[in-house]
Parts: sequence; C-alpha cells; structure tokens
Amino acid sequence: MLRKHPYAVAVCDSCGTTASDAAGVIVHFFDEGDALEAVTSEGGPDGAGAWEVLPTLELYCSACHPRLICAYVGHRWGEEHQCMCVDGYLSGGCGERAKVCRRCREVRTTHQHDQYDGGTR
Ligand SMILES: [Zn+2]
Ligand SMILES: [Zn+2]
Ligand SMILES: [Zn+2]
Repeated sequence: MLRKHPYAVAVCDSCGTTASDAAGVIVHFFDEGDALEAVTSEGGPDGAGAWEVLPTLELYCSACHPRLICAYVGHRWGEEHQCMCVDGYLSGGCGERAKVCRRCREVRTTHQHDQYDGGTR
C-alpha cells in the first residue's frame, strides 16, 4: 500500500542551509532521529563534514560549526603571509599581510577596511 509519511529535513540554525547530499539534492529523512544520526555522522550528509547538534537541539552545518566555536573561543590564526587579494594580484603585491583561521577559514588582512586585531589568537 501507499502511505504518506511526514518526513524530516535537517536545517542549519545558523545559516538556514537544508541538509543535502553530495549532488546538492535535499535529503528527506524518515524522522528526526534518523535525520540527526545522518547529519552528525562522519562526513555529514554531503561528505563535507559532520554537522553538530547542541544540547539545545540546535543544528549547525559543517560550515557554521567551526565559526560557532571561533565566536566563543576566538580564531585560531595560522602564520601571517603576504596578502593575496585582487588589488595585490593586479599590482604585483599590495604590501599588506594576511592570516587565515585554521578552524573556520576566515581571512583577516592588514588592509585598513579590514578589522585586524593583530593578536595571536
Ligand atoms: Zn550553517
Ligand atoms: Zn575562526
Ligand atoms: Zn591585499
């Protein structure tokens, strides 16, 4: 017989992304438990990384979870290197420095318009 079953989808509470598979197709789960298990499994729903579920049952996708950690404990900056921005690329180097967060991949440069804290975090 055919039975209509309400399905569950997993939505990131931070960016609103709906869990999809590697091909970008939104995944429909049998129920909430099934959804949680699938998105928090290694690799996550699309192979890009596991989602995180908070004690409050908020869900964070693999892109937002590192940013959430950084928001709480600060970025984990990598080594400073030469800025590789478009300006610098066109003029053969802008002379500014840049650093990338090892956790969330956020980039901070010494450009005036960019907020550069200069700290070690
Ligand atoms: Zn997200
Ligand atoms: Zn970060
Ligand atoms: Zn630059």
